[in-house]
Amino acid sequence: MSSLESKVAMVTGGGQGLGEAICRSLARAGATVVSADVREERARAVADAIRAEGGQASAVRLDVASEEQATEAIRRIVAERGRLDVLVNNAGVDLTVSVEDLSVADWGRILGVNLSGPFIMSKHAMKEMRSQGGGHIVNIVSTAAKRAWPNAAAYHASKWGLLGLSHALHAEARPHGVKVTAVVAGGMRTPFLLDRFPDLDPGVLQDPANVAETVRFVLTQPDETVIPEVMVIPMRETSWP
Ligand code: ADP
Repeated sequence: MSSLESKVAMVTGGGQGLGEAICRSLARAGATVVSADVREERARAVADAIRAEGGQASAVRLDVASEEQATEAIRRIVAERGRLDVLVNNAGVDLTVSVEDLSVADWGRILGVNLSGPFIMSKHAMKEMRSQGGGHIVNIVSTAAKRAWPNAAAYHASKWGLLGLSHALHAEARPHGVKVTAVVAGGMRTPFLLDRFPDLDPGVLQDPANVAETVRFVLTQPDETVIPEVMVIPMRETSWP
């Protein structure tokens, strides 16, 4: 298994929850990590904590739905670090609301962050990776891309879309030596679920560190190994499949 030594990895939504766990895991594997989050102070806190433990990390303020901010963030990383080897599209938002009450504005916002964001980020990262001779894009999908529950229509549409986008990127990028992997993750003990569903039994959820380890595993496979899609779900995710 290769390490991530000398690799530069950008993690969107890297300010808390799974994104933070991925930043920490990749830094432990030797990567230079850039935590990118719309909440800059959180991204900065994650980067500071990694550096305090001896890792290499920096932070950038980024709204993944803004092409202007995305291109500027990638340009800066390449200018400062010389390359971009890994992009983890992890930033995501949700809203618990029925279809009938879901406003077109909220629909657009959720699709904008969860689906257009990874498209924008991947489009520009792929150009960079292709010109430097390789790279790896990991898209954090959810089991919301495989089935559906009530009051999350925009989230489901975005994640089913992201799974499709991920396979489309894989098909286009592979001939150019760029790998693309969809990590389909089941419910995790992160603020994303815990803040919105206080009655949820944390015992049915998995530790985000385990999903982060899956991301690290995917990123440290030999060059000839491609993993287009991998699923990691908690043992007690009862409503699966
Ligand atoms: P998860 O379970 O995926 O970790 P969280 O809600 O805990 O979910 O974390 C999602 C992260 O994504 C948060 O740090 C949040 O600030 C970030 N985020 C949300 N929207 C955007 C965006 N448009 N661009 C970048 N980061 C975002």
